[in-house]
Amino acid sequence: MLKSGADYLDGLRDGRVVYVGGEKVADVTAHPAFRNAARTVAGLYDLKRDPAHHDSLSYEEEGERHSMYYLLPRDRDDLLKRSHAHKLISDQTYGLFGRSPDHVASFVAGLALQPEIFQPDYRDNLLGYYRRARSADSYIAYAVLPPQGGRDPEFSQRQPGYVSPSLRVIGEDNSGVTIEGIKTLATGGVLADEIWLGNLQPLGPGQEALSITCAVPVAAEGMSLWARKPLERDAGSEFDSPLAHRFDETDAVVVCRGVKVPWENVFVHNHVALSREIYIRTPSHCFGNHQSNVRFWSKLRLILALARRIADVNGTIKIPAVQETLGRLAAYEATIAAMVHGQCMAHEDLGNGYVSFNRRYMYGALSWCTENYPMLCDTLRELMGGGVFMMPADISVLDQATRGTFESHWSTPGQPALDRMKLFKLAWDLVGSEFGGRHMQYEKFYAGPSFVVRNHSFRECPWGEMAGVLDRLLASYDIPGEYRTA
Ligand SMILES: Cc1cc2nc3c(=O)[nH]c(=O)nc-3n(C[C@H](O)[C@H](O)[C@H](O)COP(=O)(O)OP(=O)(O)OC[C@H]3O[C@@H](n4cnc5c(N)ncnc54)[C@H](O)[C@@H]3O)c2cc1C
Repeated sequence: MLKSGADYLDGLRDGRVVYVGGEKVADVTAHPAFRNAARTVAGLYDLKRDPAHHDSLSYEEEGERHSMYYLLPRDRDDLLKRSHAHKLISDQTYGLFGRSPDHVASFVAGLALQPEIFQPDYRDNLLGYYRRARSADSYIAYAVLPPQGGRDPEFSQRQPGYVSPSLRVIGEDNSGVTIEGIKTLATGGVLADEIWLGNLQPLGPGQEALSITCAVPVAAEGMSLWARKPLERDAGSEFDSPLAHRFDETDAVVVCRGVKVPWENVFVHNHVALSREIYIRTPSHCFGNHQSNVRFWSKLRLILALARRIADVNGTIKIPAVQETLGRLAAYEATIAAMVHGQCMAHEDLGNGYVSFNRRYMYGALSWCTENYPMLCDTLRELMGGGVFMMPADISVLDQATRGTFESHWSTPGQPALDRMKLFKLAWDLVGSEFGGRHMQYEKFYAGPSFVVRNHSFRECPWGEMAGVLDRLLASYDIPGEYRTA
């Protein structure tokens, strides 16, 4: 059933434990650190129930309507429907919500496409969870990394008395497992219904207890979320920090103190290799990161639009070198658009009635996005010049005796002072503010460090096919007879 924005917000008032520094947050939906971001997510839920988006954001199965990102695709059209739904959703946040409700749900849908990979005792758990999440229209976030510094067992063992805080199973009984420890870094966790806990990094032998992969409601007894510095709280006015004001999706460390997880929510247990392989041997990682590619595309469109507007209002658009820079940015936007479409068009048949986005193309795009984001932001900054620092400190310039001078001296032909200030504040929030800095780090790391992202392409490359290209050429001419050894 499709949830309304109001139902979603009600669901956040479930007694969840969230800390901002030493402060325990009483109500996420009312707290200055999270309330606008929560409303942004509520808007995404309402969008799905808008009759205008009925067919693009949801589908019907077994007599119920479900969010499009839970659709298990059977052909190219289904993939295109999923992809278009991601685009519509990411356009609402201009690509600034990486972990919108369609991200982890797509990981779960990807797992449900090939449940046979799971240990027999846990296969039905995964399928049951997929169906429950789909029916409840759940917003799932995930924390799938152990904490920095606590990963290497040899390093840990060299420190006398040190016990790694990595999340692990500390007990099990007929009803389920008990988990203890921390996982990083649940983007959107504060705003989600459930947290998926698992391992996207390989574990080593002897780390069976850490291999637990499970889903836990955010309000589960014993669980708390420790949020990083909230940018929404410190954003000031919407005019001065328009993006931080409503698009700070939050990042939080998940702390579990004796959290009980019922067996039905346990998907991998005591299996070191499988805890990571489930994402790679199924299309799970591909489905989640197809959403990431689409989201990046939305963001790049905002960067491109800002770059053009700044060149227009500064009058630099007439300069051929600036046009060339904008042309290059426009080509990049077309590149990511094509990379997204290509993943649907050159789809993979899974051989079981389902299809997947093209994995290699997805990883190619992921690598491209990770490596090029700093360059894209830098190009926008170049075009901005010192514009943002030529603006008064904040909107209060209009309250004071300063207003008249500001309006007369900061205006340019065709651009009133206030409109200029609004534009430059927005551009700075995207690429220069603390919010912009968090996004720089997000784009570098959300799918793992760049060497890990490139490693996916190394793994998926059909090296035999590539070797064939070279061998065909090598075989097409001979070593001259006189130089051949006998
Ligand atoms: C804003 C943000 C949001 C995030 N959201 C999520 C989320 O929603 N869910 C989630 O589970 N995780 C999330 N993450 C965590 C993300 O997955 C990790 O940051 C990422 O995997 C890198 O791990 P790390 O930060 O621990 O860096 P580290 O593993 O400590 O790596 C830091 C650096 O050390 C160097 N390095 C480390 N190991 C090697 C090596 N073997 N070879 C060469 N160089 C190496 C590299 O320079 C690397 O960039 C998020 C991270 C950020 C920054």
